Amino acid sequence: MMSRKKQSRGPCSFCQKDMSNGGLKKHFAKCSKRLEAINNVKEKSKEQEFYHLQVQDAWRKEFWLHLEINGSDQLIDLDDYLRSIWLECCDHLSQFSIGGWQGEEISKTKRIKEIFKAGIVLTHIYDFGTSSETLIKFVDMRKGKALSKYPIYLMGRNNLPEVFCMECDRIALWLCMECMYEYDETGFLCDVHAETHPHDDYGDPLSLVNSPRLGLCGYSGPADPPY
Ligand SMILES: [Zn+2]
Ligand SMILES: [Zn+2]
Ligand SMILES: [Zn+2]
Ligand SMILES: [Zn+2]
Repeated sequence: MMSRKKQSRGPCSFCQKDMSNGGLKKHFAKCSKRLEAINNVKEKSKEQEFYHLQVQDAWRKEFWLHLEINGSDQLIDLDDYLRSIWLECCDHLSQFSIGGWQGEEISKTKRIKEIFKAGIVLTHIYDFGTSSETLIKFVDMRKGKALSKYPIYLMGRNNLPEVFCMECDRIALWLCMECMYEYDETGFLCDVHAETHPHDDYGDPLSLVNSPRLGLCGYSGPADPPY
């Protein structure tokens, strides 16, 4: 799929500063709002290990997430999260592996702390037909209190990428799957051109959502985090 490329940015969920994927990756360790949030956790829970993971679509680099996940939680928790925020269309199979997707499969019952350390990149595949491939990199680990009662805390995410209508040049809000699959066009449409667009073999144009899977196997969103 073609789109006008501009490095995608997104806000730090602690201080709201908009940054690139690479900028955010380095930012969290020194974000004063984040350190404040961590220091202000009142809960009397014992110290635990939390892993900062950088998640990125393998092909569409403008889609990325920065997650903090509890080291005692399992890969299945990460799988659930990725399905909710980006991937789930019809309950396809998924798999984690190390060394690319032909590499060694890693069981989803493995704990985060048994897997991630410096230099580790996992590949996650969702759907072995029309597959979505996601790369998960270890960035950092901290010991301390939990920021959330859930396994994962969303620290940052790309803003919805800006794409333009194939008919005019206004900002697109819709995707025609028939254009994409049958005519090798982007399929991006503005409000005006979505209204009058003639194609319906694949249904009405889909509303653009913040997921790299939009349009694949009929995925249509909502691309919201589960919690
Ligand atoms: Zn920040
Ligand atoms: Zn599907
Ligand atoms: Zn238009
Ligand atoms: Zn069309």
